[in-house]
This record gives sequence, C-alpha cells and structure tokens, in this order.
Amino acid sequence: MKVLILFGPPGSGKGTQANKILEKYPSCIYISTGDILRENIKQNTNLGKLAQNYIFQGLLVPDEVINSMIENKIKNINDNIDFLILDGYPRSTNQLEFLLNLIPYKSIKVIYLKIDLKDVINRIVYRRVCPKCNKIYHLIYNKPQSNETCDNCNTKLIQREDDKEEIVTNRYKVYLNQTLPILNKIKQMDIKFLEIPADKDINEIFNNINEFIKN
Ligand code: ADP
Ligand code: AMP
Repeated sequence: MKVLILFGPPGSGKGTQANKILEKYPSCIYISTGDILRENIKQNTNLGKLAQNYIFQGLLVPDEVINSMIENKIKNINDNIDFLILDGYPRSTNQLEFLLNLIPYKSIKVIYLKIDLKDVINRIVYRRVCPKCNKIYHLIYNKPQSNETCDNCNTKLIQREDDKEEIVTNRYKVYLNQTLPILNKIKQMDIKFLEIPADKDINEIFNNINEFIKN
C-alpha cells in the first residue's frame, strides 16, 4: 500500500490539502488522527475521555494509544486503494518508527508544509470547521458562502476548543520539540520528500502536491 504523509505544524493546511486530494483521487483513504480523536470525544468513548485531557492542553496523546489506533485502522484497509493519506501522524519519533514497521519506507512519500508561528496563529484563530462533515474554513482566506454555516451541509460552523490562542502556542511548542525532529530522520532515509512553503495559495500548493503524487 502506498502512503502519503502530510506533515507540518497545526494550521499548516494539512486537512485542507487532504480534502483537495480526496476530491481528485476519490479512491484513496484518509486518516486524520485528530479527527478520529475528536469523534471519540463527541461519542464519549473511553478513548475520547482519555484523549480530551491531552488535547485541551495542547499536548500529544500518548504514543501507545495513537499507535494502536493507527495499527487497527491500517490493518482493515483494502490493499487495492490508490493510496492512504496520513494527516497528523506520525507526530513523534516513536510513532515514525512504529509506522516504518507497518509500511516499508519505499512505499512512503512525505509532504512538508512549512510555515512559521505567526502565520499558524492567524490561520488557527480564524479557523472554523463543520462539526458534521469536517469541512474546514477560514473566516478571512477561505470563507463559507453564507455567514458561518457549512457550504456542504448547512450546519453551523464551530471553533475547535483547542484553537484558542493560548492553546495554539503550546501546540506549536509541542510540534517544535516532539514532531519536527522526525523530519531529520525522514531526510536521512531514502524516503521521497517534498517541502512546500505553506503560505502560498491553496490551489498553488495543491498543484505542487499533485505533481509529486503523480511522479
Ligand atoms: P491543519 O490541518 O494543518 O491543522 P488546516 O487545513 O485546518 O490545517 O488549515 C488551517 C486554517 O488555515 C484553516 O482555517 C484553513 O481554511 C486555512 N488555510 C489552509 N491552507 C491555507 C492557505 N494556503 N492559505 C490561507 N489559508 C489556508
Ligand atoms: P490535529 O487535529 O492534528 O490538530 O490534532 C489535534 C490534537 O489531537 C493534537 O493537538 C493532539 O493532542 C491530538 N493528536 C492528534 N494526532 C496525534 C498524534 N499522532 N499523536 C498524539 N496526539 C495526537
């Protein structure tokens, strides 16, 4: 199975690009660990109860929990899909090693959406999401057609609890300390890798991603 990892700090545009990839390649599978955890919080499952303590402080949920969640998802995926998109995983060196035991590194491509803290805060504080279909908006750059309701399903948009500015700063610190080091490991290996400045236009970024996927 081929795997495309969308890598970058919170707010770099991983979910936005994943949705564009899915529009173009409907037979790929999309896993966002953040979406799965939020769904579990909504359903009040044991996983949700455990995860929310970490998420609302901007901390990573423990590796064992996330790794076993990913293993369960991956083993149920049919091998003849186009490719699997991973958003928000791996997020620590332990998670990278775990993934490399499940998927051979030659089947993996990594896209790094690079952006700095100032832009991250601006992106996240104005992010709104649809609680029903997960479509992502930005109140300035990527507005819904009518005021704060989803273009797809007309549901009222919400701001994620962890998108408040004080939590975002913490999430960015966690990203720098625990997630960014993965990048060096990836660069040292022979994994196909593309770095994109994430402050470009959404469609321009997608065109770069699409070329990389095709080749
Ligand atoms: P991530 O999944 O990496 O946390 P999102 O895809 O949710 O990031 O994007 C964060 C916010 O930035 C959203 O409000 C989204 O609409 C907006 N956004 C995403 N990509 C761009 C872009 N290239 N230019 C401007 N705004 C963007
Ligand atoms: P995201 O939707 O990717 O911004 O993730 C939201 C939150 O979910 C993060 O701040 C973490 O608390 C948690 N989370 C998501 N993915 C992971 C992961 N791979 N490892 C640990 N925690 C995660």
